[in-house]
This record gives sequence, structure tokens and C-alpha cells, in this order.
Amino acid sequence: MNKPKTRFPLKIIVSYLVLGALAVVVSYFLYTEYRTYIAASGAETETEKIIETGTLINEVYETDSFSRIALLTQKQEDFDQYLQKSNALYKKIDTLKSIITDSAQKVQLDSVKMLLQRKIQNIEQLRVLKLTSEQNTSLDDILREFKKFDRKTGRLSVEDIIREPSKLSYAKRKAWAKWADYFTETNVGFDTTQVNSITIDSLVKISRYIVLEAKRENSRTRNALKEKENELLQNELDISYRLREMIADFDAEMSRNRFVEDQQKIASEAKTKKVLRFAGVLGLGVIILFSYLILNDFFKTERLKRKLEREKQYSDEVLKTRDQLMATVSHDLKTPLNTIVGYSELFTHTPLSEKQQNYTQQIASSAHFISKMVDDLLDFSKLEAGKLPIDKVPFSLENLLHQIAKASKDLHIEKPIDLNLYIDETLEGKVFESDPLRIQQIVHNLVSNAYKFTEKGRIQITANVLSLKDDTYQVEIAVTDSGIGISKEKQQLIFKEFTQAESDTFQKFGGSGLGLAISKKIANLLEGTLKVESTLGEGSTFYFTLPLQTVAAQQAQSIVPQRIAALNGNLKAIIIDDDASMIKLLKELFEQMNIEVYGFTSFDSILKHPHLDFDFILTDIEMPNTSGFEVVEQLQSGVLESYTNQPIIAMTGARQHPRSKYLDSGFTDMLQKPFSKNQLIAALSPLFLNKIETHLPELKVFQNPSHALYDLSFLESFLNNPESVDEVLSIFYEQTEKDVKHIEQAIATFDCPLLANTAHRMLTMCRQLNAKKINPILETMEHCAKGETTQSEMESLFANLKVEVKKLTDALKNREKATA
Ligand code: ADP
Repeated sequence: MNKPKTRFPLKIIVSYLVLGALAVVVSYFLYTEYRTYIAASGAETETEKIIETGTLINEVYETDSFSRIALLTQKQEDFDQYLQKSNALYKKIDTLKSIITDSAQKVQLDSVKMLLQRKIQNIEQLRVLKLTSEQNTSLDDILREFKKFDRKTGRLSVEDIIREPSKLSYAKRKAWAKWADYFTETNVGFDTTQVNSITIDSLVKISRYIVLEAKRENSRTRNALKEKENELLQNELDISYRLREMIADFDAEMSRNRFVEDQQKIASEAKTKKVLRFAGVLGLGVIILFSYLILNDFFKTERLKRKLEREKQYSDEVLKTRDQLMATVSHDLKTPLNTIVGYSELFTHTPLSEKQQNYTQQIASSAHFISKMVDDLLDFSKLEAGKLPIDKVPFSLENLLHQIAKASKDLHIEKPIDLNLYIDETLEGKVFESDPLRIQQIVHNLVSNAYKFTEKGRIQITANVLSLKDDTYQVEIAVTDSGIGISKEKQQLIFKEFTQAESDTFQKFGGSGLGLAISKKIANLLEGTLKVESTLGEGSTFYFTLPLQTVAAQQAQSIVPQRIAALNGNLKAIIIDDDASMIKLLKELFEQMNIEVYGFTSFDSILKHPHLDFDFILTDIEMPNTSGFEVVEQLQSGVLESYTNQPIIAMTGARQHPRSKYLDSGFTDMLQKPFSKNQLIAALSPLFLNKIETHLPELKVFQNPSHALYDLSFLESFLNNPESVDEVLSIFYEQTEKDVKHIEQAIATFDCPLLANTAHRMLTMCRQLNAKKINPILETMEHCAKGETTQSEMESLFANLKVEVKKLTDALKNREKATA
């Protein structure tokens, strides 16, 4: 059964892990691909690079043009402009370098920059060269001056005769030169007077020679310059060519890179798609697997659930059958058991031999044992089925413990044991709300065990307050004995059902091994605990701890048995009950309280007195002709003239309706039978606040110990003096005698309604007396229904009832004798 429970989450965890791992792997792949993609596309930088390269190329061409202009014009400003352009170009190259990542391209750009520098130097050199050759013309000017001077002095040169002598052949030029010399020598008319012609001539000749030499030298230099210029121009061309080549290379490189990056992008996209497709397929696979596992588990769980439901149904049926069996067996056992106990007791009152007396005692004690066992079994089966009801009624713990102590002491009078009771003074006079019967059952069981397992010494009952929170006391009731004790290892076992500490316990002490199991379960139901501390051979202490809530002062009035009510003003009450002894009882009580009573055994008889003056009505619920509910209805419909909305209080022995049902039906309050005098006062005081006074006299402990067959505490709480008790009891004897006869008749004719009514009527008073043996018999008769119960069953019940009624009346009458 546990298997699917543990497998299911494991599968889910594994599936989630697989999905998680897949998500991580795919994310990692996508991330790396994204980075490659981003690196490949480079987005803005890439476009920037392209733009920068384009403008660089343009600017290189532009700078080139400027260099040419500078060379042509040879103006300083043009050259400066060229330099400016070049500088701008450097900057451009630097910018491009900063956005380029490829180191080869960076090297290329450096080379371009270097070439540009060389180009600038080259052009500078060219310009200087050109300027230099320009300056050399001054020599020609000098020579020309010399010629002018010659002409003034009558000297002619070839140039004076021929326009362009350089175009002549060497021989012709020589011939013309000779002629010029001749002409100069023969020429007349020159004014040679002014100058010493020879001197000047020689000076001029020397000067001319020098200048000519210089010119020749100059010419040589100019040729060299020309050559140099040509060389520089060639160089310039080379540089330009290389520059363009380099730029073109750079451009091509860029394009190539771009192409490679584009390819990478495409590859990356393809890879991403592939990874996504793979992840999708894998994810789908995992989800399908996942769904399969979950569905599989779901159906498995459904199957198990159905199986479980079937099994639960089966076990419920078995439990029901067990409960029925328990109820039937215990009920069927109880009836003949009562007969056995009853007759054996009657037997003891007849003259018997010692042996016969011994036998009857044996029979009685065995029957008692079985009876106790049946009670325990019944309780146990109810506890197991969770059907043991827990009451919440006001009670005095102090009184309860005194009662138990007294009863136990009386029962074990023959044992040399001192029983002490100690009650914490904070508990004295307090009224708590819980289930006194169950508390009594537990403490009684503990004290009985203490007596059972202690031969001599002492037993101590202690009630202590452990703590107080709000109005709830944590109370510990400890029962200590100086008996045989329980070994450590057996101490937990004894709380298990049908377990006894030692294997010979049953032989030595009897018992079913159920008492403590039941006690512990009940303690838990009361929200308490039951524990043991014991030393083998020295004794044991059982600790019963439970929370007890104190009740409100008004409610408390109803439970403290010694409360006395007194009447200030006159009140008149109508009591309707088909049980005459109940009317008698209430009459006695009300008379003590100065309340005038009109008693009726049926509602119809009241109608004969339409003007009856009264202050409140107390009516029974289950009555043969008119039920309590009908009484309210009829009164409210106005059948009784004197009814003017006076309070109507319900009295009922039935427990099938909640209190609210009565209040909703028009009752002012409801009293559950049997009720105590104080409960009755508690119901009346709020209605007649200034007419009923209550006060608390000194607290008295129980006068009358509870008897195995009856309990007079309820009755005594009603009636202050023994005479009143006797009076009520004598009516009870009379009424009971009549009722027993009615029952006999009803069974003879098997008249179930009559039987049920009579049994119900008898129950009222029997409950008030807590007639432990009679009540269960009457309760069974009260539910007589043809078809469900047989006549012979009722007959055997009746036989029992007769015995028990006799025993009860005898016991009550003997009590009178004892107290008399
Ligand atoms: P039983 O009906 O046998 O008394 P209980 O459940 O009341 O069943 O007790 C179970 C067992 O616990 C007893 O049989 C006995 O062995 C042991 N036990 C209970 N109370 C005491 C005690 N006060 N001293 C020694 N032994 C005890």
C-alpha cells in the first residue's frame, strides 16, 4: 500500500530533474550561440567600420588630389591644406583602428599610415626641390645683364643674332659665335673714351667666365635636381599606387571578414534551430513520459482507493456486526445474569446448609464477575467505535471523591487497609463542568485495583491542582497503594486491553484486564492522561490528570447539594406528570419553598379548571394522551383561560432532543430527569428573581453512601428532612406496585404501547433514585415494539424486573430501619 505513495514523488522528482537539466543545457547552448551570433553581427560597430572604411578611402583619394595641387601650385597655403588633410586622415585611421578587432587589419592600417607619412615627406622634398630650381634662374639674369653690358660696349653674342641658338647644331653655333666676335671687333662708333676698354673687357670676360662656370655648375645641379624630382615623382606615384593597393586590400579584407561573419551567423542560426528542435523533441518526450507515469499512478491510486473503500465498507460492516453482537450478547447476558444474581440472593435468605450457602456465594460472585465483564466489554466496544458519549454537566469533585472513598471503604471493610482522602483546599466548594460519571468510573477502578492488589497497609487518594489557566484547573487525582507493585517493563503493558501484569494475576485476583485500558481511553476522551509509577513489592501510584472548568456562579447553584432556597412571595405552580410519585416529590419540595402546587396526571384534567390561577407550569414531555409539546401548543392556542404566557418548563427523561428543540417549541426551560433540587431552583430563580432567594450553607460531605442498587443523593438534595424522603419513598412503593401489575398485564396481552408507557412512567422515579439494576430493564421495555421484541423476551425481562423491584424496595426499607 505504501509503495505507490513513495514511488510517485520520486518519479515526479526525477522527471522534474530531467526537465530542469534539459532547460539548463538548452539555455547554455542558446547562450553560447547567442554570443557567437552577437560577435558575428557586431551590429553597430560593423556598420560603423564599413562607413569609416568608405570615408577613409575617399579621404585618401582626396588627400592625394590635394598633394597634386600643392605640387602644381607650389603655394605654401596649398601645401598647408594638404598637411591638414593628411592629419585628418591620420585621425581617421586611428578611429578605424580603435573599432577594428582584427590585428592583421590593424597592422595594415599602420602600414597605410606609414606610407602616408612617407608621402608627405616625399611631397615636401619635391616642393623644396622645385623651389630650389626656381631660385637658380638668377644666374641667367646675371648673364643677361652681362649681355646687355656687352651690347653697350659693342659686343655681340650668338643670342643677339639668332633667336634660339640652342636649337642650332654645335658647328653652326660656333660659326655664329665667331661671327659675333668679329662683328664686335670691327664695329665702329663705340664710345670707348669713357672706359678703359681693355680693363673693363678683361673684367667682364672674367666675370662672364665665372658666371658661365657657375651657370654650367648650376645647370648640372638643375639636371641633378630634375633627376631627383623625377625620382621623387616616381616615388610619389609608387606611394600612391601602394596606398591605393593597400586601401583596396583593406577593403577586400573587410569584405572577406564580413562574408566569413555572415557565414558564421548563418551557421549559428542553423545550430540554434537544431538545438531548439532537439530540446523540443526531448522535452515533449519527457512530458509524455511524465504524463504516462502520473496517469499510471492516478489510475493505480484510483484502483487502490476503490479497494480501500470496499475494505472500509467491509470493516465498517464487521464493526457494526461486532457492535450489534456485543450489544446483543451483553444485553442477552445481562438479563439472565440479573436473574441468577437475583435468585441466588433470594436463595441466601432461605434456610441453607453451610455448603449450600457456599455454593450460592460462588454463584453470586461469578455472576457478579460476568456482569462486571459485560459492562466493561460494552464500554470497551463503545470506546472502540468512538460512541462513548461524554457529558458536560456541573458537579462537585469534592463530593464525588468523598462518595468513592466512602463506598470503597464500606465495600472492603474486612481488609486491614487505611484509606485516606486528601483534597486540595482550592478545590473545596468548587463546581466544575465535566462528566462526573466517567471520572467516577476511572477513580473507582483505580481504587478497586488498589484494594485488589494490596493486602494490608494504606491507600491514599489525593486531589491536587497542578495549574490554573483562566477558569480551567489542571487537576491531578493520584491513587497510591502499598500493594504488590508493578515491574517497570509491565507498567506500559497494563494499559493494553486484556493485559495483566503477571500471568498468574487472573488466578490470584481475577479481572479481565480491561479496566485500565478503558480508564485510559476515557481519560483521553476527557482530555486528560492516566499514568503509573510503581516499584515492585512496594506499591503503586496511578496519576489521573484532567482539565476541569469551573462553572458560572448561577449554574453552580444547581449542583452544590446543600443550597437552600427560600421564597419571599407566594408562587403557584401547575405540575403535569402521569407519574403520581413525581408529583408527590415535587409537591413536597415546593411546599418547603412555600410554592403552592396543583398536580395533574394529564392535561385534559386541567381544562376542567379554566380559571386556575398559577405562576408557572412544570410539565412532563412523554405522557399517554397529550405530550408536553402538545401542552405548549394548546396553551398557546388559548384553551386555558388563565394562561397568560406564564413560563412553561419541560421535564424529560428522554435524551433524543437537544435543549434548543424545547426552547424553540415555546418552553422557557428544560429539566433533564433525574434532576436535583438545585437544578430546579436554578431553572426557577431567573424567572422569579425577587421571589426566590438562595444561599449557601456550610458544606457537608455525603450523608448517605451510594448503594449498589440506588442513590438517594438526588432525592435528599430535594428534601431536607428524612420524613419527606420517607413520604416520597412510600408513594414510590405504592406506585411501583401498581406499575408492576400494569406491566404484567401489558406483557400478558403483549400490549406494547401500554408496556412502553408504564415503563416510561416508572423510569422517572427510578432515575431519580438511580436504580442501577432496574433502569436498564425499564429502558428496554420502554422501547418495546411488536416485530422487534418478542413476548417471551419481555416475560423474562419482567421476571428480572420483579426480582430487582423487590430487592430495591427491600434495600430502601432496610435503609430506613438502619437510619431509624
Ligand atoms: P483487571 O481487571 O485485571 O484488574 P486492569 O486493567 O484494571 O484489569 O489492570 C490490569 C493489570 O494491571 C492488573 O491485572 C494488574 O496486573 C495490574 N495492576 C493494576 N492496578 C494495580 C495495582 N494497584 N497494583 C498492582 N498491580 C496493578
